[in-house]
Amino acid sequence: MKVMKVKLQRLFNRVWQVCVALLSKRYKRISQLVAILGILAVITAMVRATAPQPDGGGVRTGTLPRTWLLGGPDCRAIPEFEAHRYNEDLYILRQSGCSHYEKPFLYLFFGTEKALLLDTGAGEPDTAQAVQAVVNGWLTRSGRRSIPLEVIHSHAHSDHIAGDGSFQNLVGTTLVRPNLPSVQSFFGIARWPEQIVQHDLGKRILDIIPIPGHEATSIALYDRQTGILFTGDTLYPGRLYVEDGQEFARSIRRLVDFTQGKVVAHILGCHIENTRTPYLDYPVGTVYQPDEHALELGRAHLIELDQTLQKMDGNIVRTALRDFTIWPVTGPLATSEHPRHHTQLPITRILDSKRVSESLPRKVS
Ligand SMILES: [Zn+2]
Ligand SMILES: [Zn+2]
Repeated sequence: MKVMKVKLQRLFNRVWQVCVALLSKRYKRISQLVAILGILAVITAMVRATAPQPDGGGVRTGTLPRTWLLGGPDCRAIPEFEAHRYNEDLYILRQSGCSHYEKPFLYLFFGTEKALLLDTGAGEPDTAQAVQAVVNGWLTRSGRRSIPLEVIHSHAHSDHIAGDGSFQNLVGTTLVRPNLPSVQSFFGIARWPEQIVQHDLGKRILDIIPIPGHEATSIALYDRQTGILFTGDTLYPGRLYVEDGQEFARSIRRLVDFTQGKVVAHILGCHIENTRTPYLDYPVGTVYQPDEHALELGRAHLIELDQTLQKMDGNIVRTALRDFTIWPVTGPLATSEHPRHHTQLPITRILDSKRVSESLPRKVS
């Protein structure tokens, strides 16, 4: 009986030890799993711009058009600028291809205290008239009589500043000259290009991020209200002309770092040059683009650009990616337009589109 009791006791002890071992192993695994999941969650939050729920990310929403007025084929029916209301306080103006083959996009923001226009167009546009029409509509809807307007630029290339003259001496308008001292002093950027500053339009803060590389004065804007990142000619569905490879790569990395953990609703640049067919762009100087790529890109494109540039390690080579092309250019572009545009654009096409634009009704749709 005593032997039996001892045997049972040993068996009980053995079973207990096995159970403890199994449990500790399982708990160890569970705790390891929890730790791994935790680390993954932290890493995910660090490398991606995420929101906790698929509920719009907490930013103010808006809509983009499925297509834009396409710059033809009948230019007589196309106004010089098409104004699209993203929402009540953000407007996208696109210059017609009939007015200028660059067809740049301009952006007009409204805060409670100020309005701000990003870029003024290409060629010889009457941008102030088009912008004034949008501002007047906004004032009417807001029950206000006036709002100060600031005019700034994504960068200094001529297809983004050509309408500056139409804003000169306009009452209530501040025109920031497209050069580095003026840009730095207007925004209060002491350490260019590392310093990111905030610009408040009244209950609407824009983060101003220096991104030289395409051009020396390039900036990006992040609109906290809508979660949209505006990247000028630095990232858009088209040919990303790189003037300074090292600076360009550093600027793209700056944008990746800046957007970490932030909601990025869209990335909006200033041109569309790609078609909807992957890896295919329209020839330089194309006026009519019936199958053009959507304007909007996402943060994944920024990551793709960053990774491709990092692999190049400063030695930028022409590389077509699905939705845009990295395109190094030799020598500074200064304030001229992209050089390939000048060299490859047929002269007759320039004259044609110019003549047509002069006969256009200058109104905003
Ligand atoms: Zn440019
Ligand atoms: Zn441009």
